[in-house]
Amino acid sequence: MTSVLERISVGRPVFSVEFFPPRDEADQQILGRAIRELESLDPAFVSVTYGAGGKSRRGTIEATRLIAEETTMTPMAHLTAVDHSVAELRNMIGWYAAVGVRNILAVRGDPPGDPYGDWIAHPQGLNYAEDLVRLVRSLGDFCVGVAAFPYGHPRSADLDTDTRHLIAKFRAGAHFAIAQLFFEPDDFLRLRDRVATVDPDALLLPSVMPLTTVRTLHKTAELAGVDVPAWIAERMDPLAGDPAGFRAAGIDLVTNLCERLLAEGVPGLHFITMNRSKATREVVARLGLLPTRA
Ligand code: FAD
Repeated sequence: MTSVLERISVGRPVFSVEFFPPRDEADQQILGRAIRELESLDPAFVSVTYGAGGKSRRGTIEATRLIAEETTMTPMAHLTAVDHSVAELRNMIGWYAAVGVRNILAVRGDPPGDPYGDWIAHPQGLNYAEDLVRLVRSLGDFCVGVAAFPYGHPRSADLDTDTRHLIAKFRAGAHFAIAQLFFEPDDFLRLRDRVATVDPDALLLPSVMPLTTVRTLHKTAELAGVDVPAWIAERMDPLAGDPAGFRAAGIDLVTNLCERLLAEGVPGLHFITMNRSKATREVVARLGLLPTRA
């Protein structure tokens, strides 16, 4: 199985996509369709998030298994330390390996119910993503990614501390990091500069979400942990009652963001798809990102 590291180190920019595990049969159909529609574009890898609940956790195994066994794409499963003992984490990692998934995004996760509440580790569990990276790496030949935060993680005291903790994840064995959503190219580039002063070889991928609806704009702000910049609000807010106009302006905005990131030499763009492929296909086509195996 090809590793994510190999797929993003091909000497030209690539794109990858993120899905969430389906919650029911209808979701399953939607995801199946997105997978079929994206497969021919040969994304570098396909990641599937890991939720707080037991059902969604099984969904991550099932979705990544399907991608590994029934498509030509490279799957990456997210894994969190939330409510897991080390024994359970070993078990999950074993399941991933058993279904052919050798790429894992090791994130700590947030306390279930209240993402901003106090983190409480499982009594026999782990405290930080750094520990999870070490665990995954100790269990076999896995390619491991971690999370990075352009504006700093909300729990970090300051950006220097945040950078130190990110570097610790690389030193623990992470092969690359995927940055949380952000609005301005410079927000990502500043993060890249902070990391490069300590580790010039650290690989960082930006996350991008096509802004197709008012909801996606608000979701981006929520995940980024910052307000929508004034210039973007001024452009997008008047279009709130015009879905087609909003979508067209949002796709333009995201395409421009991606163009600048590509010009700055990012190895790839990680698209948050919300399990729909159309907008991602449009942006990728406009960027001229040809299938990487073509
Ligand atoms: P950590 O790196 O452990 O950091 C958590 C906090 O602890 C930070 O403030 C950090 O600065 C601090 N810290 C780290 N190490 C130390 C240390 N040694 N000593 C003191 N403080 C320390 N969540 C999900 O539930 N499921 C997902 O699938 C998922 N996927 C994600 C994908 C991406 C690309 C990103 C960016 C986030 C994702 N998240 C997901 C969210 C993530 O779980 C949360 O943001 C979580 O709060 C932080 O995870 P982390 O891996 O960065 O944790």
